[in-house]
Amino acid sequence: SGKVVVLVESPAKAKTIEKYLGENYVVVASYGHVRDLAARSGSVRPQDDFDLVWEVPDTAKSRFNQIKTALKGAQAMVLASDPDREGEAIAWHILEMIKLEGIMKKGLKIQRVTFNEITKTAVQQGMKSPRNISQELVDAYLARRALDYLIGFDISPLLWRKLPGSKSAGRVQSAALCLLADREKEIESFTPREYWTVEAEICPADSKGQVSFPARLVSYNGVKLDQFSLTGSEAEAAASYIGQSSLKVDGMKNSVVRRNAPGPYITSSLQQDASSKLGFGASKTMLLAQKLYEGVKLPDGELVGLITYMRTDSMQLSAQAIESIRKFGEERYGKNYVLSSPRKFSSKVKNAQEAHEAIRPTGIERIPSELAKVLEQDALRLYALIWRRTMACQLEQAVFNHVSLDVEDPKGVVRLRSTASTMEFPGFQIVYRDKDALAGDNEDEESATEKKLPSLKAGSCVSAIDVKHKQHFTEPPPRYTEGSLVKKMEELGIGRPSTYAHVLKTLQLRQYMQIEKQRIIPRVRGRMVAAFLSRYFTEFVDYGFTAKMEEQLDAVSSGSMKWKEVLQQFWPNFHDKVTSTAKVPTQQVADMLASLFSDKLAGKDKTCPNCHTGELQLKLTKFGTGYFLGCNRYPSCHYSNSLDKDEEEEEEECGSPVAKSRSKVLGVDSSTGLPVLYKEGPYGDYVQIGEDAKGKLKPKRVRVPESINYNAFTLEMAMELMKYPKELGVDPEGKPVMIGIGRFGCYIRREGYSVYVPKDQKVEELTLEMALDIFVKGKEDRRKVRKSPVKIAFA
Ligand SMILES: [Zn+2]
Repeated sequence: SGKVVVLVESPAKAKTIEKYLGENYVVVASYGHVRDLAARSGSVRPQDDFDLVWEVPDTAKSRFNQIKTALKGAQAMVLASDPDREGEAIAWHILEMIKLEGIMKKGLKIQRVTFNEITKTAVQQGMKSPRNISQELVDAYLARRALDYLIGFDISPLLWRKLPGSKSAGRVQSAALCLLADREKEIESFTPREYWTVEAEICPADSKGQVSFPARLVSYNGVKLDQFSLTGSEAEAAASYIGQSSLKVDGMKNSVVRRNAPGPYITSSLQQDASSKLGFGASKTMLLAQKLYEGVKLPDGELVGLITYMRTDSMQLSAQAIESIRKFGEERYGKNYVLSSPRKFSSKVKNAQEAHEAIRPTGIERIPSELAKVLEQDALRLYALIWRRTMACQLEQAVFNHVSLDVEDPKGVVRLRSTASTMEFPGFQIVYRDKDALAGDNEDEESATEKKLPSLKAGSCVSAIDVKHKQHFTEPPPRYTEGSLVKKMEELGIGRPSTYAHVLKTLQLRQYMQIEKQRIIPRVRGRMVAAFLSRYFTEFVDYGFTAKMEEQLDAVSSGSMKWKEVLQQFWPNFHDKVTSTAKVPTQQVADMLASLFSDKLAGKDKTCPNCHTGELQLKLTKFGTGYFLGCNRYPSCHYSNSLDKDEEEEEEECGSPVAKSRSKVLGVDSSTGLPVLYKEGPYGDYVQIGEDAKGKLKPKRVRVPESINYNAFTLEMAMELMKYPKELGVDPEGKPVMIGIGRFGCYIRREGYSVYVPKDQKVEELTLEMALDIFVKGKEDRRKVRKSPVKIAFA
């Protein structure tokens, strides 16, 4: 039989799968998406029934050519991208491109297969059960992509104009950003409340002070205490009473507490635990998990995926997996540690967009210690975390004995209580004590804090030593960690397994937040964007709205809603909002932000440090390039303090030569929807369309001739400059003659050579013949090229 081309998204996955398939198979990697919506305005066309305009990026073109080459003489193509919405979309795009390019020859069989795990059995079985591309999943992808595009491309230009200095805002990112801003508000408006406790060490009378255990006052003057019952003076009085009283044991209570093992990991819970137990950020966790999924070389040379697919919200385990976990548990820990019957988990969420099994090791018999030599330490720790959780879910409950002991004075004025808990049977917690499964981590928090109480009969005499009354204050809610933010997003239904890590990364890249000691701190810029969105796009950043959108996308993927219906419901209201917000004067936005943030930014003392009489205020710069903290006595006081200082420093660290001293937003380019910026560079000023973005191609830039006055520079002038370099025409040999703007003025370029235009020559009057003439003369005597400013007359 003929050649079969298998397509996957990554080279690592390709390498692993290739080993499992016969000689007839060629495995090719697409390196992610081969097409995307063109990154300019108008790529989603609501007026044309939400027509989508796709673009193949240059990098993807060469990838696609490799696929084309591989397909020559092939009999079948197997689309084996990841088992979720994105994977389905990649398969669909490739098929569409093959059709468009006309290389869909007769007899070429196209099949879609998915592997929930990349092991020999799973891959071979998957290859035997091909299906068609799921249009429902593709539709869910189309709806999500179009929504994100429409929101991004409509809100972002507004942000650039109304909130200069901001990057952009996305759909899910905005809701997450508002969560961060709301928490920050809660923290700022939090008023600590005072409360008091009384604690003592209790000694049995016969122990002569050798044995003691801590106890806490729970009742005073016949009243059961809650957190705020005691005043400071009452606490003091109670403490001195306890110190002088004789005390007796009132009784001991025992109770047995059983605890179930937590269910196996899904994306969100894995990200939470990796954050809280290993200190990993969400992106790091997903990157490591992907490596484990795609395949690792074992000591015996076998290449195998160590865990199942990592983007999932299903807690289910296959019957086969449960069986092997139970069998291995019996061998390793003994029969009494394994649950008498298999424990099954059902999914919380009905969501067909993601994979259908929990994250688990592909072979439970691969204990973490055996992989110490083949995995890097952090990958090993993540694997071990997954291994322990998976193993634990089929093990017995842990059994604890809770003891509480009450102590009273004869008059019943004070009652103190001491509690302790001891483990009777470790059950599933045995995995926390299994050295081979720990990878150096300690998940066993309970036994570290385990304490015992001496067994005391009711009525036996005790004494209290070290009696203390303590003052406390309630604490504000803590800032989110990456883990707790993902948890909150999951609770609210914002985002999906495939998006959590991406959302966090985007907020960081846009410098809307920073992470310090694992805590997420929103930056002023991020809070201003959140305030803007909450004020002008209230319903669209509402958590309920964002959750509803996700539900609708789920409905599309399960076939109960049409993808365009989602867009039709969303678009009109949203578009109206964008149109009305565009009419809001920028000064009004500035005033709103000033009233919200002036006080916070100025600190406790709002007095201007320059004139000592004025007050500091959040203000918009003269040319609307950004915000700063200024004196309200301007223009008699010129004090100003930049808000974006930390951002500037960061850019300099990255080696960006762009200084912000002379820069402004000129307006918005109507064809791309991107902001048109005037910037000062080390080699002269320039204009560019769109902001710089890390990891992306530099936006188009054109130099501004020195003769042009900065203050008089307009959007129209920028757009005129942007036409350069432009083609003047073709020379007699048919080669293009270009005219461009360089460091020292206008130049003519032909066949790779450039010659500057003499300064007395008006560029707009330049004809092709004149240009060729200048070029030939200039090339003959290159020293004639003058370093002089050019004049361009603008219509
Ligand atoms: Zn001042």
